[in-house]
Amino acid sequence: MQNEIVERSALSAVSVPIPIWISGRIVLTDEIIENGSVLIRGRHIEAVNTPCPDGAITMEAGDGYILPGFIDIHLHGGGGADFMDAEEDSVAIVARAHMHHGTTAMVPTTMTCADELLEQVISCILPTLERPTGGARVLGLHLEGPFFSAAGKGAQPVSEQRIPTKKILEKFISLAEGHILRWDESPELENTLLFAEIMKENGILAAVAHTQANANQAMAAYDAGFSHATHFYNSMSTVHKENGIVHAGVIEATYLRDDVTIELIGDGKHIPRESMQLAYRIKGPDRICLITDAMRAADTDCVQSVLGAKSGGTPVVIKDGVAQLPDLSSYAGSICTMDRALRVAHLEYGLPLTGVSRMLSLTPARLCGCDGMKGSIASGKDADLVIMDREFNVRKVFVEGELLYQA
Ligand SMILES: [Zn+2]
Repeated sequence: MQNEIVERSALSAVSVPIPIWISGRIVLTDEIIENGSVLIRGRHIEAVNTPCPDGAITMEAGDGYILPGFIDIHLHGGGGADFMDAEEDSVAIVARAHMHHGTTAMVPTTMTCADELLEQVISCILPTLERPTGGARVLGLHLEGPFFSAAGKGAQPVSEQRIPTKKILEKFISLAEGHILRWDESPELENTLLFAEIMKENGILAAVAHTQANANQAMAAYDAGFSHATHFYNSMSTVHKENGIVHAGVIEATYLRDDVTIELIGDGKHIPRESMQLAYRIKGPDRICLITDAMRAADTDCVQSVLGAKSGGTPVVIKDGVAQLPDLSSYAGSICTMDRALRVAHLEYGLPLTGVSRMLSLTPARLCGCDGMKGSIASGKDADLVIMDREFNVRKVFVEGELLYQA
């Protein structure tokens, strides 16, 4: 069983925090330091590669690794809860479940639904922005929908999909009190340019998603200010025919745009090895975020679950490490965690560890506008750290200087 440290550690109970000195192999942005050290004091990293000061508590990573905490910018649930449950404790349950796998900050994702439910979900998430969750820190909101075309719907319910209007966009922006970090839309929809305009005015990252647009439509969206592609490759068009004429799709358009970032589901199921390697070669680690897109069954032993809200969601079975429709005809959500995404990208798909670490931490931090404080191991940044063994299993997790988990 996992052994969770629930109480604030005695270390932070005293007024002058006792420093913690951790030695081991450190994964920095561009290099791995074999015999390094990280000194934590209070909430922050005080120094990297410094001698152990007198009176410090010492820890060691042994033959494992010290990595910056993972930042998941697209997840729906875990530990049995989903944000769409619109229950106050669901955010903390998800935050703790993913923290056990190294996620130290996250952007909760909502699904396409009726306005009333979206309002309730947002009002449950907002209070958690200001306080520790006992798990991953909540950075802001990700609205996945409801502005999706029926053709690219994926697992999003068709009945609640609609066209963006100024009125509805402004309503939710004001309801979320400026905390929407990212919002997705299908670029083939009417009012896409209006959507881009309003996102730009409000400093929200606009992303193409759940789309069957052709390359021209995608390029027009990118020209208007869209700058990110949600779960790239999944629910997304590639070369196809329209009335017998061949068109390129969103995937090709996105590859041609150096100003567009992408995110990849890291479970080793949604993205084949060659597709991730190709994305890495074209986009590089500074324009890719690894995400989980996890549903509620992540970090549970469930074999049956529900995608989306507890009541009214889609029943799914968990088989071969992925949620699937009960007749096994289609994937219906991921149960990925960020440590698994690391193992898939590095150990199975052969991508370099420093690059994988950047895709898990620094690039998502930059997209969230918090790379000054999070996303890498550097003095002055938040002490968000994951200590892993040599097989990349999580051994310890620090969130803002607090040891919240040890295996
Ligand atoms: Zn999603």
